[in-house]
Amino acid sequence: MAWTRREFTRLGALSTAAIAVPGAVPDIFAQQQERVGFAVIGLGVIADHFMRGVKQSQRCKITALVSGHRDKAERIAAEYGVPKDSIYSYEDFDRIRDNKTVQAVYVALPNSMHAEYTIRASKAGKHVFCEKPMALSSAECQQMIDACKTANVKLMIAYRMQYEPLTLKCIEMVRSGKIGDVVAFEGQFGFNIQPGVWRTKKALAGGGSVYDVGIYALQAARMFTGEEPVEIKAVAGTVHKDDPRFAEMEESVEWSMRFPSGVVASCASTYGGQMEGFMRVHGKSGALEMGPTFGYDGVTMRGRAKGEHWEESNPEKDPKQFEREADHFAECVQTGRTPKTPGEEGLRDLTYIEKIYESAGIKL
Ligand code: NDP
Repeated sequence: MAWTRREFTRLGALSTAAIAVPGAVPDIFAQQQERVGFAVIGLGVIADHFMRGVKQSQRCKITALVSGHRDKAERIAAEYGVPKDSIYSYEDFDRIRDNKTVQAVYVALPNSMHAEYTIRASKAGKHVFCEKPMALSSAECQQMIDACKTANVKLMIAYRMQYEPLTLKCIEMVRSGKIGDVVAFEGQFGFNIQPGVWRTKKALAGGGSVYDVGIYALQAARMFTGEEPVEIKAVAGTVHKDDPRFAEMEESVEWSMRFPSGVVASCASTYGGQMEGFMRVHGKSGALEMGPTFGYDGVTMRGRAKGEHWEESNPEKDPKQFEREADHFAECVQTGRTPKTPGEEGLRDLTYIEKIYESAGIKL
């Protein structure tokens, strides 16, 4: 992630305008372009948010679906105007190579399938927009990056919060010194997971809550400091020891990070309790916090420093975040720009996630 100070300042101003007057600035460039056609792979919860976001977009459209459930796919195809011959199964997915209405795929599958479908899509000549976490391991991430490079297609990881205007504004406030030198960061995210879902199976999820939701706190620590951690220490624990949900993985993880400047971060995630998305940055002369945050809407901040107080919520509603990230990727496809959150960004997080589990004594 390489944002210059000028870009942050510009984004801050733009984001403030966007929050104050949603949709006030017509996207003239987008209106002149052919929409980027997306094939959605895996028609679950997040795919639904994404497709509704694309419906609102001026740059994208849904042109194909890939699913293990034909009935569901046909129902969704009818809703989005996707022709029946643009519905694929996982087995015949590679035929998508011949579908000229598809420029990109959106990988919305369980984590263990991200690498395979990214690589197959790249071989079919399609750009790839892949959900987080990028894959199960840093080695898989590297294979995905290499495959997309070889095929000369773009690869972007769906880090929603890196496109969320109030979050960007807060990053700009912190980085421009509003709370003084940053000394410490706190972040957390978790929920009480349902039994039996793929997230509780190590083979499909890779690991526990850090892969799924802890990654938001990890990302936030990196975004707000603008630094990469040089030291990571972690502990893991399970309260509900006989609970089958935690037969294959730990319930909660807490980890600390040290950044080159000396900033320390304390983060946690769980699958065993309602741990609302929250983060706080402590500076020499004040603090800024966001909470609730990391959700699909309702992102809220408050802070204080040097006699100033701030409080703001982003009034935009779901699926605006999905529209925004889809639009960014479509713009990259249209213009040749590199996405703000490319595969390398996903690789970095997987490298740190591996270190967190290693430090906690958990074999992945
Ligand atoms: P769901 O379980 O709701 O959907 C996953 C879909 O993948 C299923 O509906 C199914 O689609 C397909 N699938 C294929 N094989 C399997 C399998 N063996 N087990 C289960 N599903 C399978 O998951 P989510 O939508 O919540 O998560 C998908 C991805 O999105 C994950 O990587 C997750 O981390 C990420 N995510 C990102 C979020 C964000 O805010 N960025 C939030 C939530 C999730 P079909 O029936 O069509 O074959």
